[in-house]
Amino acid sequence: MQLYNKLSSKEREQLIEQAGEERLTLSFYKYHQLKDPKTFRDDLFINWNQLDVLGRINVAHEGINAQLSVPAKKFEKFKSFLDNIDFLKDVRLNIAIEHYDKAFLKLKIKVRPKIVHDGLNDSTFDVTNKGVHVDAMKFNELIEDPNTVLVDMRNHYESEIGHFKNAVTPDVDTFRQSLDIIEADLKDHKEDKNLVMYCTGGIRCEKASAYYKHKGFKKVYQLEGGIIEYARQVKDQNLENKFFGKNFVFDDRRSEKISEDVIAQCHQCGKACDTHVNCANDGCHLLFIQCEDCAKKMDGCCSDKCQDIVHLPYEEQKRLRSGRPAGNKKFKKGRSPVLKFK
Ligand SMILES: [Zn+2]
Ligand SMILES: [Zn+2]
Repeated sequence: MQLYNKLSSKEREQLIEQAGEERLTLSFYKYHQLKDPKTFRDDLFINWNQLDVLGRINVAHEGINAQLSVPAKKFEKFKSFLDNIDFLKDVRLNIAIEHYDKAFLKLKIKVRPKIVHDGLNDSTFDVTNKGVHVDAMKFNELIEDPNTVLVDMRNHYESEIGHFKNAVTPDVDTFRQSLDIIEADLKDHKEDKNLVMYCTGGIRCEKASAYYKHKGFKKVYQLEGGIIEYARQVKDQNLENKFFGKNFVFDDRRSEKISEDVIAQCHQCGKACDTHVNCANDGCHLLFIQCEDCAKKMDGCCSDKCQDIVHLPYEEQKRLRSGRPAGNKKFKKGRSPVLKFK
Protein backbone atom coordinates (compact mmCIF):
# COMPACT_ATOMS: atom_id res chain seq x y z
CA MET A 1 0.00 0.00 0.00
CA GLN A 2 1.29 3.45 -0.87
CA LEU A 3 1.78 5.58 2.20
CA TYR A 4 4.22 8.14 0.81
CA ASN A 5 4.68 10.37 -2.23
CA LYS A 6 5.95 8.72 -5.34
CA LEU A 7 6.05 11.68 -7.67
CA SER A 8 8.67 14.40 -7.60
CA SER A 9 7.55 18.04 -7.40
CA LYS A 10 8.41 18.48 -11.09
CA GLU A 11 6.32 15.51 -12.18
CA ARG A 12 3.47 16.72 -10.02
CA GLU A 13 3.66 20.21 -11.48
CA GLN A 14 3.40 18.77 -14.98
CA LEU A 15 0.43 16.63 -13.99
CA ILE A 16 -1.41 19.62 -12.52
CA GLU A 17 -0.73 21.62 -15.67
CA GLN A 18 -1.95 18.81 -17.90
CA ALA A 19 -5.10 18.19 -15.86
CA GLY A 20 -5.82 21.92 -16.07
CA GLU A 21 -8.40 21.60 -13.34
CA GLU A 22 -9.16 24.14 -10.70
CA ARG A 23 -7.83 23.50 -7.21
CA LEU A 24 -8.92 25.08 -3.94
CA THR A 25 -6.38 26.18 -1.38
CA LEU A 26 -7.62 25.70 2.15
CA SER A 27 -6.55 25.09 5.71
CA PHE A 28 -8.02 23.86 8.95
CA TYR A 29 -6.92 22.76 12.39
CA LYS A 30 -8.45 21.06 15.36
CA TYR A 31 -7.12 20.43 18.82
CA HIS A 32 -8.31 16.97 19.81
CA GLN A 33 -6.74 14.16 21.85
CA LEU A 34 -5.59 11.49 19.39
CA LYS A 35 -4.56 8.16 20.90
CA ASP A 36 -2.80 6.88 17.83
CA PRO A 37 -1.59 9.69 15.55
CA LYS A 38 0.40 7.27 13.37
CA THR A 39 -2.63 5.18 12.36
CA PHE A 40 -4.69 8.33 11.89
CA ARG A 41 -1.94 9.73 9.68
CA ASP A 42 -1.81 6.64 7.48
CA ASP A 43 -5.56 6.60 7.11
CA LEU A 44 -5.53 10.25 6.01
CA PHE A 45 -2.76 9.60 3.54
CA ILE A 46 -4.55 6.69 1.86
CA ASN A 47 -7.82 8.57 1.55
CA TRP A 48 -6.49 11.97 0.58
CA ASN A 49 -4.03 10.54 -1.88
CA GLN A 50 -6.97 8.92 -3.69
CA LEU A 51 -8.72 12.29 -3.82
CA ASP A 52 -5.60 13.90 -5.25
CA VAL A 53 -5.26 16.18 -2.23
CA LEU A 54 -1.88 17.90 -1.81
CA GLY A 55 -0.48 19.83 1.11
CA ARG A 56 1.42 19.97 4.35
CA ILE A 57 -0.25 18.39 7.36
CA ASN A 58 0.90 17.89 10.93
CA VAL A 59 -0.72 15.26 13.10
CA ALA A 60 0.06 14.91 16.82
CA HIS A 61 -1.46 13.60 20.04
CA GLU A 62 -2.97 17.10 20.39
CA GLY A 63 -4.79 17.10 17.02
CA ILE A 64 -4.30 18.12 13.39
CA ASN A 65 -3.14 21.20 11.48
CA ALA A 66 -3.54 21.06 7.71
CA GLN A 67 -2.73 23.34 4.75
CA LEU A 68 -4.12 21.82 1.60
CA SER A 69 -4.89 22.07 -2.04
CA VAL A 70 -7.95 20.07 -3.16
CA PRO A 71 -9.26 19.63 -6.71
CA ALA A 72 -12.44 21.73 -6.84
CA LYS A 73 -14.31 18.81 -8.40
CA LYS A 74 -13.45 16.55 -5.49
CA PHE A 75 -14.21 19.05 -2.77
CA GLU A 76 -17.60 17.49 -1.85
CA LYS A 77 -16.00 14.08 -1.42
CA PHE A 78 -13.22 15.58 0.64
CA LYS A 79 -15.74 17.38 2.84
CA SER A 80 -17.81 14.27 3.45
CA PHE A 81 -14.64 12.37 4.32
CA LEU A 82 -13.98 14.96 7.05
CA ASP A 83 -17.59 14.88 8.22
CA ASN A 84 -17.29 11.15 8.74
CA ILE A 85 -14.57 11.67 11.32
CA ASP A 86 -16.31 12.58 14.58
CA PHE A 87 -13.99 15.31 15.75
CA LEU A 88 -13.69 16.86 12.28
CA LYS A 89 -17.38 16.99 11.53
CA ASP A 90 -18.20 20.59 10.52
CA VAL A 91 -14.66 21.74 11.25
CA ARG A 92 -14.22 25.30 9.93
CA LEU A 93 -12.35 25.24 6.65
CA ASN A 94 -10.41 28.39 5.88
CA ILE A 95 -10.72 28.69 2.14
CA ALA A 96 -8.29 31.08 0.50
CA ILE A 97 -9.66 34.03 -1.44
CA GLU A 98 -6.96 33.72 -4.08
CA HIS A 99 -6.31 30.37 -5.63
CA TYR A 100 -3.14 29.08 -7.07
CA ASP A 101 -3.26 25.60 -8.56
CA LYS A 102 0.30 24.84 -7.59
CA ALA A 103 0.15 26.00 -3.96
CA PHE A 104 1.38 22.54 -2.95
CA LEU A 105 3.08 19.89 -5.02
CA LYS A 106 3.14 17.01 -2.57
CA LEU A 107 1.02 15.39 0.07
CA LYS A 108 3.14 15.47 3.19
CA ILE A 109 1.51 14.23 6.37
CA LYS A 110 3.83 14.13 9.35
CA VAL A 111 3.43 12.84 12.87
CA ARG A 112 4.95 15.43 15.18
CA PRO A 113 5.13 16.13 18.90
CA LYS A 114 2.80 19.12 18.39
CA ILE A 115 0.66 20.50 15.56
CA VAL A 116 2.25 23.96 15.88
CA HIS A 117 5.73 24.49 17.17
CA ASP A 118 4.71 26.84 19.99
CA GLY A 119 7.45 26.21 22.56
CA LEU A 120 4.89 25.94 25.36
CA ASN A 121 4.65 23.39 28.11
CA ASP A 122 0.94 22.65 27.86
CA SER A 123 0.74 20.78 31.13
CA THR A 124 1.33 24.04 33.02
CA PHE A 125 -1.98 25.62 31.96
CA ASP A 126 -5.46 24.72 30.79
CA VAL A 127 -5.33 24.87 26.99
CA THR A 128 -9.11 24.50 26.73
CA ASN A 129 -9.80 27.71 28.68
CA LYS A 130 -9.60 29.89 25.56
CA GLY A 131 -10.47 33.48 24.74
CA VAL A 132 -13.76 34.60 23.24
CA HIS A 133 -13.90 33.89 19.50
CA VAL A 134 -15.12 36.85 17.47
CA ASP A 135 -16.16 37.14 13.83
CA ALA A 136 -15.08 39.91 11.45
CA MET A 137 -17.95 42.23 12.32
CA LYS A 138 -17.43 42.01 16.08
CA PHE A 139 -13.66 42.21 15.59
CA ASN A 140 -14.02 45.47 13.64
CA GLU A 141 -16.03 46.91 16.51
CA LEU A 142 -13.66 45.70 19.20
CA ILE A 143 -10.52 47.09 17.58
CA GLU A 144 -12.03 50.57 17.45
CA ASP A 145 -12.65 50.48 21.21
CA PRO A 146 -10.10 52.78 22.91
CA ASN A 147 -9.87 50.21 25.68
CA THR A 148 -8.55 47.55 23.31
CA VAL A 149 -4.98 46.45 22.74
CA LEU A 150 -4.74 44.63 19.43
CA VAL A 151 -1.87 42.19 19.13
CA ASP A 152 -0.50 40.42 16.06
CA MET A 153 0.55 36.93 17.19
CA ARG A 154 2.66 36.26 14.11
CA ASN A 155 6.36 36.71 13.47
CA HIS A 156 8.03 39.85 12.15
CA TYR A 157 8.37 38.71 8.53
CA GLU A 158 4.61 38.07 8.43
CA SER A 159 3.39 41.34 9.93
CA GLU A 160 5.98 43.22 7.89
CA ILE A 161 3.94 42.86 4.68
CA GLY A 162 0.48 43.20 6.21
CA HIS A 163 -1.30 43.76 9.51
CA PHE A 164 -4.41 45.26 11.06
CA LYS A 165 -4.73 48.95 11.67
CA ASN A 166 -3.28 49.91 15.09
CA ALA A 167 -1.94 46.43 15.81
CA VAL A 168 1.07 45.82 18.01
CA THR A 169 3.46 43.79 15.85
CA PRO A 170 6.26 42.32 17.98
CA ASP A 171 9.63 42.16 16.24
CA VAL A 172 10.13 38.47 16.94
CA ASP A 173 11.22 35.30 15.17
CA THR A 174 9.12 32.93 17.23
CA PHE A 175 5.68 32.72 18.76
CA ARG A 176 7.18 31.98 22.16
CA GLN A 177 9.10 35.29 22.19
CA SER A 178 5.92 37.19 21.41
CA LEU A 179 4.07 35.77 24.40
CA ASP A 180 6.60 37.12 26.89
CA ILE A 181 7.02 40.53 25.23
CA ILE A 182 3.29 41.16 25.15
CA GLU A 183 2.80 40.00 28.71
CA ALA A 184 5.51 42.35 29.93
CA ASP A 185 4.10 45.28 27.92
CA LEU A 186 0.60 44.80 29.29
CA LYS A 187 1.39 43.72 32.82
CA ASP A 188 -0.50 46.65 34.37
CA HIS A 189 -3.58 46.14 32.25
CA LYS A 190 -4.44 42.49 32.80
CA GLU A 191 -7.88 43.31 34.13
CA ASP A 192 -9.00 46.53 32.45
CA LYS A 193 -7.94 46.28 28.77
CA ASN A 194 -9.43 44.07 26.08
CA LEU A 195 -6.62 41.92 24.81
CA VAL A 196 -7.59 41.17 21.21
CA MET A 197 -5.37 38.92 19.12
CA TYR A 198 -5.16 37.51 15.63
CA CYS A 199 -2.95 35.31 13.49
CA THR A 200 -3.02 33.75 10.01
CA GLY A 201 -5.72 31.11 10.42
CA GLY A 202 -6.50 31.26 14.14
CA ILE A 203 -4.45 28.35 15.40
CA ARG A 204 -1.76 30.32 17.22
CA CYS A 205 -4.40 32.33 19.09
CA GLU A 206 -6.00 29.13 20.39
CA LYS A 207 -2.98 28.56 22.59
CA ALA A 208 -2.05 32.19 23.14
CA SER A 209 -5.47 33.15 24.47
CA ALA A 210 -5.48 30.24 26.93
CA TYR A 211 -1.95 31.16 27.97
CA TYR A 212 -2.88 34.80 28.70
CA LYS A 213 -5.97 33.80 30.62
CA HIS A 214 -3.76 31.55 32.71
CA LYS A 215 -1.47 34.57 33.24
CA GLY A 216 -4.35 36.59 34.67
CA PHE A 217 -5.72 38.50 31.68
CA LYS A 218 -9.47 38.89 32.11
CA LYS A 219 -10.76 40.08 28.72
CA VAL A 220 -9.18 37.97 26.03
CA TYR A 221 -10.54 37.81 22.49
CA GLN A 222 -9.32 36.07 19.36
CA LEU A 223 -10.21 36.49 15.70
CA GLU A 224 -11.95 33.31 14.66
CA GLY A 225 -10.35 31.75 11.59
CA GLY A 226 -7.66 34.43 11.58
CA ILE A 227 -6.94 36.80 8.71
CA ILE A 228 -7.96 34.22 6.09
CA GLU A 229 -11.51 33.91 7.41
CA TYR A 230 -11.68 37.66 8.16
CA ALA A 231 -10.93 38.47 4.51
CA ARG A 232 -13.64 36.09 3.38
CA GLN A 233 -16.26 37.55 5.72
CA VAL A 234 -15.34 41.12 4.79
CA LYS A 235 -15.89 40.25 1.15
CA ASP A 236 -19.11 38.27 1.70
CA GLN A 237 -20.74 40.72 4.09
CA ASN A 238 -19.32 43.84 2.51
CA LEU A 239 -17.71 45.01 5.76
CA GLU A 240 -15.01 47.61 6.10
CA ASN A 241 -11.60 46.00 5.63
CA LYS A 242 -9.23 47.05 8.43
CA PHE A 243 -6.34 44.90 7.29
CA PHE A 244 -3.60 46.61 5.29
CA GLY A 245 -1.41 44.78 2.81
CA LYS A 246 -0.81 41.09 2.34
CA ASN A 247 -1.47 38.04 4.46
CA PHE A 248 1.69 35.90 4.60
CA VAL A 249 0.74 32.25 3.98
CA PHE A 250 2.69 29.04 4.27
CA ASP A 251 2.35 27.60 0.80
CA ASP A 252 4.02 28.41 -2.48
CA ARG A 253 1.88 31.50 -2.97
CA ARG A 254 3.71 32.99 0.07
CA SER A 255 1.04 35.65 0.53
CA GLU A 256 -2.52 36.65 -0.23
CA LYS A 257 -3.39 40.24 -1.13
CA ILE A 258 -5.99 41.58 1.31
CA SER A 259 -5.79 45.28 0.41
CA GLU A 260 -4.00 47.22 -2.30
CA ASP A 261 -1.64 48.89 0.20
CA VAL A 262 2.05 48.03 -0.03
CA ILE A 263 3.36 48.58 3.48
CA ALA A 264 6.84 47.04 3.27
CA GLN A 265 10.09 47.97 1.52
CA CYS A 266 12.66 46.20 -0.56
CA HIS A 267 15.41 45.14 1.84
CA GLN A 268 18.05 46.22 -0.64
CA CYS A 269 16.99 49.61 -2.01
CA GLY A 270 14.15 50.63 0.30
CA LYS A 271 11.58 51.05 -2.46
CA ALA A 272 7.96 50.14 -1.65
CA CYS A 273 7.72 46.39 -2.19
CA ASP A 274 6.11 43.42 -0.45
CA THR A 275 7.35 40.45 -2.43
CA HIS A 276 9.16 37.80 -0.43
CA VAL A 277 11.78 35.79 -2.27
CA ASN A 278 14.29 33.15 -1.26
CA CYS A 279 17.93 33.99 -1.91
CA ALA A 280 19.00 32.29 -5.16
CA ASN A 281 22.06 30.80 -3.48
CA ASP A 282 20.87 27.32 -2.46
CA GLY A 283 23.32 27.35 0.41
CA CYS A 284 21.60 30.45 1.83
CA HIS A 285 17.95 30.47 0.83
CA LEU A 286 17.23 33.46 3.08
CA LEU A 287 13.63 34.69 2.90
CA PHE A 288 13.63 38.42 2.34
CA ILE A 289 11.89 41.20 0.45
CA GLN A 290 13.37 42.14 -2.90
CA CYS A 291 12.05 44.37 -5.69
CA GLU A 292 12.32 43.39 -9.34
CA ASP A 293 15.14 45.86 -10.06
CA CYS A 294 17.24 44.56 -7.21
CA ALA A 295 16.43 40.97 -8.17
CA LYS A 296 17.92 41.69 -11.59
CA LYS A 297 20.93 43.53 -10.26
CA MET A 298 21.65 40.94 -7.58
CA ASP A 299 20.68 37.83 -9.62
CA GLY A 300 18.08 37.09 -6.97
CA CYS A 301 20.65 37.03 -4.18
CA CYS A 302 20.52 38.54 -0.70
CA SER A 303 24.15 39.73 -0.64
CA ASP A 304 27.31 40.20 -2.71
CA LYS A 305 28.70 37.11 -1.10
CA CYS A 306 25.77 34.97 -2.26
CA GLN A 307 25.94 36.56 -5.70
CA ASP A 308 29.60 35.55 -6.00
CA ILE A 309 28.67 32.01 -5.05
CA VAL A 310 25.87 31.62 -7.63
CA HIS A 311 28.36 32.59 -10.34
CA LEU A 312 30.63 29.68 -9.46
CA PRO A 313 30.31 26.39 -11.36
CA TYR A 314 27.56 24.21 -9.86
CA GLU A 315 30.01 21.56 -8.61
CA GLU A 316 31.99 24.22 -6.80
CA GLN A 317 28.80 25.55 -5.17
CA LYS A 318 27.95 22.05 -4.03
CA ARG A 319 31.40 21.64 -2.54
CA LEU A 320 31.00 24.90 -0.60
CA ARG A 321 27.67 23.74 0.79
CA SER A 322 28.78 20.30 1.88
CA GLY A 323 29.14 19.85 5.60
CA ARG A 324 27.28 23.08 6.27
CA PRO A 325 23.82 23.18 7.81
CA ALA A 326 21.24 23.28 5.02
CA GLY A 327 19.90 26.72 4.22
CA ASN A 328 19.74 29.93 6.13
CA LYS A 329 16.83 29.46 8.48
CA LYS A 330 16.75 33.10 9.54
CA PHE A 331 14.29 35.58 8.14
CA LYS A 332 15.15 39.21 8.16
CA LYS A 333 13.24 42.40 8.42
CA GLY A 334 14.87 45.76 8.33
CA ARG A 335 17.90 43.99 9.71
CA SER A 336 19.79 44.12 6.53
CA PRO A 337 22.97 46.23 6.64
CA VAL A 338 21.99 47.89 3.37
CA LEU A 339 18.77 49.25 4.83
CA LYS A 340 20.39 52.49 5.91
CA PHE A 341 17.13 54.36 6.36
CA LYS A 342 15.92 52.06 9.14
ZN1 LIG B 1 15.07 47.07 -4.44
ZN1 LIG C 1 21.90 34.73 0.40
